[in-house]
Parts: sequence; C-alpha cells; structure tokens
Amino acid sequence: MRHTTPADEHGQAAVSVQGVHKQFGDLVAVKDLDIDIRAGEFFSMLGPSGSGKTTVLRMIAGFEEPTSGRILLHGQDVTASAPFDREVNTVFQDYALFPHLTIAENVAYGLTVRGISKAERARLVGEALEQVQLSHVAERRPSQLSGGQRQRIALARALILRPKVLLLDEPLGALDKQLREQMQFELKQIQREVGITFVFVTHDQEEALTLSDRVAVFNNGRIEQVGSPREVYEFPQTEFVARFLGITN
Ligand code: ADP
Repeated sequence: MRHTTPADEHGQAAVSVQGVHKQFGDLVAVKDLDIDIRAGEFFSMLGPSGSGKTTVLRMIAGFEEPTSGRILLHGQDVTASAPFDREVNTVFQDYALFPHLTIAENVAYGLTVRGISKAERARLVGEALEQVQLSHVAERRPSQLSGGQRQRIALARALILRPKVLLLDEPLGALDKQLREQMQFELKQIQREVGITFVFVTHDQEEALTLSDRVAVFNNGRIEQVGSPREVYEFPQTEFVARFLGITN
C-alpha cells in the first residue's frame, strides 16, 4: 500500500520517500517505505523505540543511504547526495551546541562555514535570536543556559540557514514535562511563522497529536497508518495504532 496523498498544489512533495528499504547487516530497519510530505506541513513520525523513525530521518538528512529506493526533495532525487548539498537541516535531541563557542557564534556557525560576511552574519544572528526571544544571551556559553534555552538556540541555529525542510529528532526529549509543553507551543508557533516543512520524530503520542498536521504511525520498520491527528485517533486502522495511541474501547 502506498501511503501517499496529493502533495502541494504543484503536485510535488517537499519530501518524497519512495520504496525505501534499509538494512544494517541482517537487521531490516526500514521496509518498503513510501511517504510524501507536503511543503509547509508539520509531519510527525510516531512510534515505539526501534521502529525505524530515526533511520528514516537520517536518510532524508543524508547521514544514511537507503539500501534500495529513492529520496526526493522538492522533486529532485537526492538519494546519493551529501547532507551539505540538501536543503535540509536537523535539530537533534542533545542540541549538539559547541561548548567553547558563545551563543552568537553557535548560531552563526552554519553561516561562517558557508563564507557569509561578518556584517551579514551579525544581522542574521540578531534576527534569529530575536525569533526565539533570546537576544540577551548572545554572549553566554551553552553551559550557562537552561535546557529550554539550549533547545531554542539549537532551533535558531538550524533555522538561520533557511532550510526548506527542518528535521527534528525528539527535540524535546530531554526536557521536563512543563517545559516540554511550553516548547511544543513555541515550536508550533515558529513553524507557522517561518512556514517551512517540519519533519518531527517522537515516541510521544500526545506530542505528535498536538503538534502535527499529519502523523505517520511506525511499527517495526513500516508505517501502519498516516493521517491527521483526528483521523488516526478517531479511526485507527489497525490494532497496533489503537493500542499505541492508548485508545481502548
Ligand atoms: P527509532 O528511531 O524508531 O527508535 P531507529 O531508526 O533508531 O528506531 O532504529 C531502527 C532499528 O535499526 C533498530 O533495531 C536499531 O537498533 C537499528 N539501527 C539503527 N541504526 C543502526 C546502525 N547504525 N547500525 C545497526 N543498527 C542500527
């Protein structure tokens, strides 16, 4: 079964995963996967640990190559392109900030390696820090920030490169419940403001249902169901989906 829906109005998906299979030695991590993600969509990959979500995200980012199948970004086949050549960026759970650099230098990092001028960097960093409401921490180091602030900085650093697609791997996983809920709200707001495609990996059903335009429920390297939060919650197509979402009737 192809889990596809019409893509954007030009008929072209922002991200298209076509017949992708991924094996690590004997272990089949992802099986015959098809996904089309629309431009501007907040799309979540939800499922238990080990179900293949991160592997799919890493293949979209270009950190892993599919064993077979294709990955297209805005219609262009990128299956064999390096991560640097894709218009995507990734936010990881551990934030991956450089401890020895200031916050401003961390946020500017991607611009520096791309050779953007100092004046332009300062302007873009100012804008990005304002967007996440952290202009006042520009000269601090990551260790002087709270978990929530570090998360916002990781987001600012990824967004400053204006990727067409932002990949987020359990970005709120390290935060406590209260902060997590606040960050969910902020993440959604930022996504609406910038209007770029978000592909979000989580094992937390509540988080996926709250944030997403559509959710793909993963089980054992395959997708069990794709739909709006309401569709998957109200009309689970398999027993696994019903169980995983905690629907009992
Ligand atoms: P999830 O993100 O849903 O937790 P993953 O995509 O991380 O799942 O993992 C899917 C399966 O692939 C798991 O069985 C995992 O152990 C395996 N796996 C992931 N990456 C590697 C790797 N680099 N080498 C070997 N096995 C891996």
